[in-house]
Amino acid sequence: MPADQQLPDAVRIVIIGGGVGGASVAYHLSELGERDVLLVERDELTSGSTFHSAGLVGQLRADPALTRMNMYSVELYRKLLAGEHAVAWTECGGIKLASSSERLQEIRRQISWARTYGLPLEEISVREAAELFPLISTDGVVGAAYLPSDGYIDPSQLCNALANLARAGGVRIAPRTRVVGIDVEDGRVRRVHTDKGEIACEIVVNCGGMFAAEIGRMAGVRIPLIPMSHQYLVTEAFLPERGDPLPTLRDPDLLVYFRQEVNGLVMGGYERDPEAWTATAGSYDAVPADFNGRLLPENWPRFEQIAQNSQIRVPDMADIGVRMIVNGPEAFTPDNEFCLGETEVDGFFVAAGFCAHGIAAAGGIGKIVAEWIVEGQPSLDVWHMDISRFGRDYRSPRRTLVRTLESYQTYYDIAYPGRQRIAGRPLRTSPAYPWHAANGAFFGEKAGWERVDYYETNASRGDGARPPDGWAGRYWSPAIAAEHVATRTMAGLFDETSFAKIEVSGPDAATLLEWVCDNRVIRGVGDVTYTQALNRRGGIEADFTVTRVAAEVFSIVTGTAFGSHDMAWLRKQARRCGARARIEDVTGRDVCYALWGPRSRKILARLTPADLSNEAFRFMTAQQITVADVPVRALRVTFVGELGWELYASSEFGAALWRDLWSAGVDLGLVAGGYRAIDSMRLEKGYRVWGADITPETTPYEAGLGFCVKLGKPGGFEGRDALVASQERGAERRLCAITLHDPHSVVLGNEPVRIGDRIVGRVTSGGYGYTVDASIAYAYLPVADAEPGTTVCVDLFGDWIDGVVAAEPLFDPAGSRIRAS
Ligand SMILES: Cc1cc2nc3c(=O)[nH]c(=O)nc-3n(C[C@H](O)[C@H](O)[C@H](O)COP(=O)(O)OP(=O)(O)OC[C@H]3O[C@@H](n4cnc5c(N)ncnc54)[C@H](O)[C@@H]3O)c2cc1C
Repeated sequence: MPADQQLPDAVRIVIIGGGVGGASVAYHLSELGERDVLLVERDELTSGSTFHSAGLVGQLRADPALTRMNMYSVELYRKLLAGEHAVAWTECGGIKLASSSERLQEIRRQISWARTYGLPLEEISVREAAELFPLISTDGVVGAAYLPSDGYIDPSQLCNALANLARAGGVRIAPRTRVVGIDVEDGRVRRVHTDKGEIACEIVVNCGGMFAAEIGRMAGVRIPLIPMSHQYLVTEAFLPERGDPLPTLRDPDLLVYFRQEVNGLVMGGYERDPEAWTATAGSYDAVPADFNGRLLPENWPRFEQIAQNSQIRVPDMADIGVRMIVNGPEAFTPDNEFCLGETEVDGFFVAAGFCAHGIAAAGGIGKIVAEWIVEGQPSLDVWHMDISRFGRDYRSPRRTLVRTLESYQTYYDIAYPGRQRIAGRPLRTSPAYPWHAANGAFFGEKAGWERVDYYETNASRGDGARPPDGWAGRYWSPAIAAEHVATRTMAGLFDETSFAKIEVSGPDAATLLEWVCDNRVIRGVGDVTYTQALNRRGGIEADFTVTRVAAEVFSIVTGTAFGSHDMAWLRKQARRCGARARIEDVTGRDVCYALWGPRSRKILARLTPADLSNEAFRFMTAQQITVADVPVRALRVTFVGELGWELYASSEFGAALWRDLWSAGVDLGLVAGGYRAIDSMRLEKGYRVWGADITPETTPYEAGLGFCVKLGKPGGFEGRDALVASQERGAERRLCAITLHDPHSVVLGNEPVRIGDRIVGRVTSGGYGYTVDASIAYAYLPVADAEPGTTVCVDLFGDWIDGVVAAEPLFDPAGSRIRAS
């Protein structure tokens, strides 16, 4: 839009921010046919973090969805190179070095799962790495991987090319136009105020980069990100003229990355003593109003470790002159994942917090966010990047800061499954936490909660158990086996207080939930329903149990980490339906203790006058009873496949309730157990976990949850039409249980599954089942290959391990243990 042209009074979509994020969202919206779009930029395009990016485009990430997004970016950059708005895309290949044996294992693991989506990552020898990048010293290098389609790109050219294409597609772009306010009415964004006038709109997309938190505050939304100072240097020219450019090079063990820049090198890295810029523990970020097209002063002392490490790998770095050092701020998030999607304000989207890989991901980000806006949801499962994953604790600037600093410090560290964060702990604890700590609990953290993984004090009872081989044996204890076996044979007591709990009440509560859920939830007071909430494509957006507590009151229990996400989903649905329903997060109000196992009834009977027989207290029902002196809502449900109850009580009773349950069971062999034992038992029973086995990309039919779907219920439900259409087409894949022939080979997730020489799927979750004595893995397989008895192979760190599709569930298929009298 020419500078002298008036801003429109109203448009459908306003994008705030003319960096690579905003430009890509604009382009992809135009590709989806959106014409009524305005992008406003407070200064010039690319004048935020984009212009000073090092421009490396590495595709491989720990998360499959992000890797697929980066692969799409590369496709797009190739197209741009060939097109009218050409950008300097250099597809020079990329090398990742392993300077430790553990890193080599990580590389092999990545190579194996890269195969599942056709990423041509290959292991190369140390000698081959040195041939491709002759400047390296191979001292200490134990292996390498090479990805021929990695490269680098000029970030400003990329941003401008995307903006030009967006313009050509009808998007208007207004530079030097600053957003100063956003109006939200009835939970929905209505207009933006700029220094050149106001614009009514239906949708706002916050692509503000490190300014996104400030823009979020204008709408009352918290975007938890921290502007971090990130540095790289550019050397003097010293490379001989050569035909092909050097590949990019990463040596994560030494915290450094390189790429060629004309005849010199760019070298940067992730230091162990990072520095936040403008944000402090006591105040939100306050990026200066005139910080555009600018850099921060060089900080050599902080760069020293990186510089020294670079000389270990590229000895020439010790002698070459430095042409410049770039110190630029960039938005990092508390978990190194992006902030994408619709916020709690309807129509207010965000695409920011790109954690120094926004150039690599820009294509994919723009595509995903544009789909989200136009189609209501993205085509990939991007739960790890969904803004709704952050709980209210991230309204705290201190929490955001300490977690972000820790994430930056550990950017290149190997993300071993089960690895624990340290910063800002403990934050959320159960009333029984002191008991757990005094009894040797090993805590894992989820959504700020301290949760018992296992009690080291139980380890001696599991003496015979052998740790799984490799990484699966890293954060392992024989206590896990002991707690599993004791629960199956006697009883286990588990603290599940961290479960997210949502109360839905009001005159329309029942009809709202009946619309949101695929199962019937309008049932009798006291009935408990296991159900999924689906998106319009029939994908599983949430998975929870619903208890009808009173005619107009429903209690929902969902996974610890999913509370904010599921709340946001329910609230949006309520707004869409105009439902008169109150939706409240009551997670902290009640404790939840699970007592499961064949002796659970006997133990509970010692503490309650309630009749616990099958006739009086049916499976999947709830009753208000007293346990010891505590008023409790008892739910006869299980996540381990055993007889038992989940007991919900107001938190002030929590310490006493735990103590009394424990005392009542000790002489009957009761053990206190943790989440690792629960996971092992749920794998044997085939209970699905949202975010791994079931996701927004999978339907209940594919996931083996068709028994929940009530297609015929009056009024239908969200996602029904898509499910019907998918039924008519016929399912293409099904979630299957696989047992591996070698019980000590235990999967971690994402491993490819092969039949003959065809890669047919990828592991969603797995582990060891101590009762069935088998290594178990779940994977979606083509329907034709999903029959029990089919022989498969699973790739574990480069070794193909034989396995077989098993009939589900592996444990107690008749369910007699759950219904035991
Ligand atoms: C030193 C450094 C090296 C990097 N190297 C790499 C790399 O090698 N590879 C890689 O993939 N990534 C890299 N990155 C990261 C990458 O550059 C960023 O992730 C990306 O550029 C961020 O783009 P953005 O659009 O989110 O933000 P920005 O480019 O910052 O754009 C946000 C825009 O919003 C505008 N804005 C803010 N507030 C308002 C308002 N109120 N009204 C209107 N407009 C507003 C700003 O002016 C700005 O232009 C690097 C980053 C740094 C700092």
